[in-house]
Amino acid sequence: MSEVSFKLPEVIVNQYRKAEPLKAVCVEKKILVEGESGSDVCHIVFDTKDYKYKEGQSAPVIPPGENEQGKAHNPRLYSIASMGNDINHNEKLTLCVRRVVYNDESTGKEVKGVCSNYLCDLKEGDEVLMTGPSGRKYLLPDTSEINRPYVFLATGTGIAPFRGMIDRLLNHTPEFNSPIYLFFGARYKSEMMYEDEFSKIENPNFHYIQAISREQKNKEGGRMYVHHRMIEMSEELAGILQNDKTIIYLCGLKGMEEGIEEAMQVISKELGESENYLINKFQGRILKEVY
Ligand SMILES: Cc1cc2nc3c(=O)[nH]c(=O)nc-3n(C[C@H](O)[C@H](O)[C@H](O)COP(=O)(O)OP(=O)(O)OC[C@H]3O[C@@H](n4cnc5c(N)ncnc54)[C@H](O)[C@@H]3O)c2cc1C
Repeated sequence: MSEVSFKLPEVIVNQYRKAEPLKAVCVEKKILVEGESGSDVCHIVFDTKDYKYKEGQSAPVIPPGENEQGKAHNPRLYSIASMGNDINHNEKLTLCVRRVVYNDESTGKEVKGVCSNYLCDLKEGDEVLMTGPSGRKYLLPDTSEINRPYVFLATGTGIAPFRGMIDRLLNHTPEFNSPIYLFFGARYKSEMMYEDEFSKIENPNFHYIQAISREQKNKEGGRMYVHHRMIEMSEELAGILQNDKTIIYLCGLKGMEEGIEEAMQVISKELGESENYLINKFQGRILKEVY
């Protein structure tokens, strides 16, 4: 990720390492989405004791067992879906995990992702090895610069970091009085994770916009993605996209950047500017985490 143009908070990374990982305990697990062919999404809460993290960081999880080379599995990263524990609150550390299940192209056999299936099969009381936390840059600004507009763009489990960030901004930052636009894309309405939480937020600064690709149509009659919603709302977004303080965060499926770039080009032209006006303007203020 290139340098950001705002002050980032100091965070702790690698408090725990592979040689001496944290033993986190699963204290709650629930299915958020019942996925097709068993690829559900789970909300998993851990007691992580003194693990010090901020929302936006990721937790690397070491699955038990060995890989094909007979070595311990590499840790897999998961975005932390709860607000950092620098502020006292009830939630410990939450992950939002999609169970990876796919058919191997060469053998045609069903393959289950090692770590995601391990996590989605956890039971309360199970112990999980974690390292990290990981990540110094995909963070909200330092408290001194936090009061500014935000555009959060999520697809699928990319919603995870925004759950904690929005909690911090709206519930734990008394001076915060700027707009937040959360765009969330998924295939079906039933895949809108945390909809119950986001749709309940009554703060007039908070705007929650859904793009449901297989159930809604864009202007051209095609599937509705996040970038189509941005273009639809270009008049409303014009002000905050021209504001030098606004930060855009995007998180989720690899490939979503293309559509977002297209939306920024369309909106730039609507503003009477050159195609790359907004893309250039947001250098250092657009943070991406795709996987
Ligand atoms: C910064 C970051 C944050 C992340 N945050 C989250 C998160 O919040 N939630 C979450 O669920 N995941 C997240 N991930 C992804 C996560 O780290 C794992 O990659 C994912 O869970 C799969 O791991 P696994 O061990 O289950 O699968 P593995 O056993 O590692 O298998 C995955 C392998 O299967 C292949 N594969 C996967 N799907 C298919 C397919 N349909 N067809 C063919 N091949 C396929 C992949 O190329 C890969 O080689 C994040 C990744 C990163 C880098």
